[in-house]
Amino acid sequence: MQIEITGIGSEFQGVGRAEDGRAAFIPGALPGERVEASVFKNADRFVECRLEQVLSASPDRIAPRCPHFGVCGGCRAQHVTYQKSLDLKRQIVEQTVRRIGGLADAEIRPTLGAENPWRYRNKGEFAVSTDRATNLPVIGQCEGGSHRVVGMSDCLIQHELSMKAVSAVGQWMQKHKISVWDSCGREGGLRYIVTRVNVREELMIILCTTGRAVPSVESLQKTLRDALGGKVKSLYQLTLSPRPHHALDGRCRLIWGQPELTDQLFDLTFSISPQTFFQVNHAMTEALYGEALRAAALEGHETVLDAYCGAGTISLALAQKAKRVIGVELNAKAIEDAKQNAARNGLTEKTRFIAGDAPEEALKLFSQGLRPDVIVVDPPRKGVEARLLSAMVKCSPERIVYVSCNPSTLARDLKILTESGQYRVEYVQPVDMFSWTEHVENVALLTRV
Ligand code: SAH
Repeated sequence: MQIEITGIGSEFQGVGRAEDGRAAFIPGALPGERVEASVFKNADRFVECRLEQVLSASPDRIAPRCPHFGVCGGCRAQHVTYQKSLDLKRQIVEQTVRRIGGLADAEIRPTLGAENPWRYRNKGEFAVSTDRATNLPVIGQCEGGSHRVVGMSDCLIQHELSMKAVSAVGQWMQKHKISVWDSCGREGGLRYIVTRVNVREELMIILCTTGRAVPSVESLQKTLRDALGGKVKSLYQLTLSPRPHHALDGRCRLIWGQPELTDQLFDLTFSISPQTFFQVNHAMTEALYGEALRAAALEGHETVLDAYCGAGTISLALAQKAKRVIGVELNAKAIEDAKQNAARNGLTEKTRFIAGDAPEEALKLFSQGLRPDVIVVDPPRKGVEARLLSAMVKCSPERIVYVSCNPSTLARDLKILTESGQYRVEYVQPVDMFSWTEHVENVALLTRV
């Protein structure tokens, strides 16, 4: 059927109306276009369609730069100019905040874009398998919804060094006919290659495996040296847990080199080990944290609570401008990293890091009399727990800075915070951390009424 695209969905799909009036979601279609589409999924109130043909194209449509676009599933917005993708992300945030948050006049600012939206990822995760027919290694991404690995010679959002590293590992596998030691073999094998690159262009490579030790290590080192000179600083083997939840779910062993890399945000130094969480887009992390700092508007006398603080990256940037920062984070290893990072940057005196559940620990702190002037939250996609939101309102900080990677839960939580009548949303600032994908980060500032 033919559909006029009138809007954009939260996953960057074109939205229009099917013949029967139900909403139709069409990945790959853009607002302003007329398309031919076919239904592949029926729900009560909407249909999901496949784009068959663009009948009349948007002036903002461009040819995707990446040959894997559409198959890989990593990027969903390469068919539109970068500027338009920023506008559409703003629109997604705006409609979500209005619809779910019920905030008719909250200011949604234009999306802060990247100077260079390509090759921004400082961390790569590549799936590995062996082609049954040729016995050659296939390294790339799992096809959406399956475990089939789609080979990729390049990924345009990855750092070039990550791609070189991965290609060198592929050469080494080929040279040594490392096919029994593959993901199909029962004995175990190489499942993923994870790469991390810091601002100084130093690399950490993590071979995520099941089963036995990595064979022909000297040859691998030589291949990496030939391809990357001295840039590879550390090589790890990670033995995956029996049923891994992600590529880095397991135990690490340093094969060669130094145990950690360091990275820099502003004038702060952070250590990166294989399993440490660190934001993946360096330039835009500084932009995002810059927005969080601006929203916090610290003068130096404040006590700040940073909930969901990870390895303390935002906490330490805040600590440079505040009297005291308390960071809370569920992951005990991240809290160890945060403490080390504080020491490394001479900020131990001004910071306290607590490992635990954010709602539980915050409630404990409030009941002990802590009254932060500013509360910063940066929760995972599911947002902030309702009991923490209501405790935050009761505790009455001057400002709440909400850093979010999910507009829907941000909108839901802004609604809860503002319904108290004690807080108002000053603005929401979208930040393009994940260019060419459907994702958008936001910093929302709430002030006490
Ligand atoms: N602010 C950090 C990390 C943000 S990611 C940064 O910018 O790097 C969100 C963090 O929330 C993760 O580190 C995750 O481990 C943590 N987290 C998830 N659930 C939590 C909970 N219930 N209590 C505290 N932290 C939690």
